Amino acid sequence: MNSTESERNEETRLVKDLLVKQNRLLGRTLIHMDHFLFLHKSISRLNLDDIRQALIDKLPDILSIKYFSLFLFDKSKRLLTLSCHNHPGWTQEVQIPMAASHVMNDAILQGRYILEPDFKKSKYFKGKSNPLFKNNFFLCLPLMIENEVLGILNLNETRKGGFSVNDLDFVLNVTEFVSLSLSNALLYRKTELLSVTDGLTSLVNHQQMQQVLKSEFERSRRYTQELSLVMMDMDHFKRVNDTYGHQVGDEVLIALGEVITSVCRSNDTGARYGGEEFCLILPQTSLENARNIAERIREQMHERVFQTDRGEFQITLSCGVAQLDLERMTQPADLVHVADRALYRAKEGGRDRTVLGGVDDLS
Ligand code: GH3
Ligand code: MG
Ligand code: MG
Repeated sequence: MNSTESERNEETRLVKDLLVKQNRLLGRTLIHMDHFLFLHKSISRLNLDDIRQALIDKLPDILSIKYFSLFLFDKSKRLLTLSCHNHPGWTQEVQIPMAASHVMNDAILQGRYILEPDFKKSKYFKGKSNPLFKNNFFLCLPLMIENEVLGILNLNETRKGGFSVNDLDFVLNVTEFVSLSLSNALLYRKTELLSVTDGLTSLVNHQQMQQVLKSEFERSRRYTQELSLVMMDMDHFKRVNDTYGHQVGDEVLIALGEVITSVCRSNDTGARYGGEEFCLILPQTSLENARNIAERIREQMHERVFQTDRGEFQITLSCGVAQLDLERMTQPADLVHVADRALYRAKEGGRDRTVLGGVDDLS
């Protein structure tokens, strides 16, 4: 073999090697692309629960990791809330102040990922050996949209040891995509919430109240359960506006919204019925218990002193209460009618009181 031939052979070998290498890379990229498209299809949803489920089902396989957790970040409260994860034995209800997790705190403040190939050797390791981190690999990724941190994705423990630069690039691409899907779903949820919420008091609006009442009415009839409704109306509210101005009037409405929210249990619905009229839908609640709840709201409002630059004042409230009568009431409007009549009697009777309605008012 002369020297040109051996040079040519050497060159052929190099080209072959290069081709093999490039093929391997291409194959890897294609697998990544395939995984990416698969995830893209699964999490391009507007419903947050669907996204959570898709991440739980697919993320560990696609990223070749064993565990992940996703926290949503509330910037104003500096609070991290666990949104989904696949760690066995973790409870779903986890909320941690941002400052309580040094690693997530740093990832948020620096706006960049933190990769610890051996968590035990990192400055974040506090001595507690976590049995979940067998390989001690930890990657903490802030989920960002236009410099705003929406949440944090934590990845723990690779399937087959370490992480390569290619893997990291892929993970960062996936993370960007997860951020986008999350952001869309969060915005969608926000607009949905806005459409059913009263802007001033944050209680549900009239339209939504009718929806809730309809479904609670049907449910209570189906399962023969109790259901009560309280209608409330501010006394002489026009005077408040006339004397102290509309803005002070608004502050009183906001205050009543807060009191109603504070007494509502998880299944109760407080609503702004319209203007200075509010209502409370109370499933599985007797007439007597509904009266007690109405009285608590009335008393709390009565005790409140509103300070203004034109002096201080107090406000009173009249309430009417109705209970579902399974025999006589056939539609949600019947319940509203009885509560309304009781409210009317509370006004007639001198205001600042709670009156119980009865089915006689239906005829
Ligand atoms: P009553 O004791 O008989 O209920 O007397 P009232 O003055 O409360 O009743 P009326 O229905 O005459 O007046 C209701 C007032 O509520 C008039 C209206 O300007 C005021 N109001 C309704 N919505 C709002 C609001 O969003 N903000 C403010 N500030 N006032 C409102
Ligand atoms: Mg009024
Ligand atoms: Mg009114």
